[in-house]
Amino acid sequence: MIIDCAVIGGGPAGLNAALVLGRSRRKTILFDDNKPRNAVTSESHGFITRDGIQPQEFKRIAQEELSRYPDVRIERQKVHRINKENNLFLVETENGELYSAKKIILATGFKEVLPDIPRVTEFYGKSLFSCPFCDGWELRDRPLAVITEDQKGFHFAKVVSNWTNDLIIFTNGRKILSLAEQELLKKNGISINEKKISSLIGKEGMLEKIQLEDGTSVPREGGFITAEWKQAASFDSLDYTLNEQGGITTDSWQRTNIEGLYACGDTRIAGPSQLIIAAGEGSMAAIAVNSALIEEKFNQENQHA
Ligand SMILES: Cc1cc2nc3c(=O)[nH]c(=O)nc-3n(C[C@H](O)[C@H](O)[C@H](O)COP(=O)(O)OP(=O)(O)OC[C@H]3O[C@@H](n4cnc5c(N)ncnc54)[C@H](O)[C@@H]3O)c2cc1C
Repeated sequence: MIIDCAVIGGGPAGLNAALVLGRSRRKTILFDDNKPRNAVTSESHGFITRDGIQPQEFKRIAQEELSRYPDVRIERQKVHRINKENNLFLVETENGELYSAKKIILATGFKEVLPDIPRVTEFYGKSLFSCPFCDGWELRDRPLAVITEDQKGFHFAKVVSNWTNDLIIFTNGRKILSLAEQELLKKNGISINEKKISSLIGKEGMLEKIQLEDGTSVPREGGFITAEWKQAASFDSLDYTLNEQGGITTDSWQRTNIEGLYACGDTRIAGPSQLIIAAGEGSMAAIAVNSALIEEKFNQENQHA
């Protein structure tokens, strides 16, 4: 059987794509190996009607909604390889199963690589986060840290200062701030600490202080950290183009440079990374897929006329 669309990845992007495809009566398979980026956190914020929801509960509700649509099937397994042959995509799962699809939506997300700081993963998702729009409200008015080793730390610290007046930027031994940037931060009440961090200290994921290599420590109750972003999945046989940060490039209809291949959500690594934005892009990708299939059908019928 040739399916209309294979959606790879069952986070908010892929789930919303599958919903719109199911409602458009498109034979769809959603493949998901359930390793979302936000698995480390217990609450998601900023999605209207779902503010504060647990990530797995969000997924459970979404899957329940999809079960109402007979043309959508969920395969809980990893897609291992995708090949394009003529006008069809051949999807191979890790179990060796093969599926043919007219269109593909990639919604595989990204993974972050955190700075190499002892114990950082214990705190990430509990009191240290990556996105102030997602978790700044919960940390408001507390003594916070921005931990960053890269140039975007300057801008990031300015954004985080919106939620607290007690902010220190820790560069972990790196000289990433120009003199002008340092002055501007200080003028706005943001302190700078360029010493190397030896460890993060706290209990049950709640940060208490930042231990420095010179033996001193600085009390902090939480904060934000910048990370490197990497694709969660890569499909070598598909020659899609990537942007400077390593995200899959698309047009505003989520179309990649490969005909029939669409990408949405975090996998595009472009702009803010949020559940609602990923879900919106998933919807857009599904509408684009549906429009393309309609056009193809009408063109074919025109040729036969
Ligand atoms: C600590 C933390 C806190 C966050 N808090 C918030 C918040 O409060 N509010 C908010 O809006 N956003 C928050 N985010 C961001 C949010 O999690 C992402 O923007 C969102 O999950 C992106 O959705 P997505 O569908 O693109 O990718 P994901 O949610 O990462 O989903 C991708 C899915 O694809 C699957 N997959 C990958 N490769 C394959 C493959 N080869 N085969 C099959 N399946 C595959 C993965 O297992 C995963 O289930 C947070 C992120 C982090 C890290």
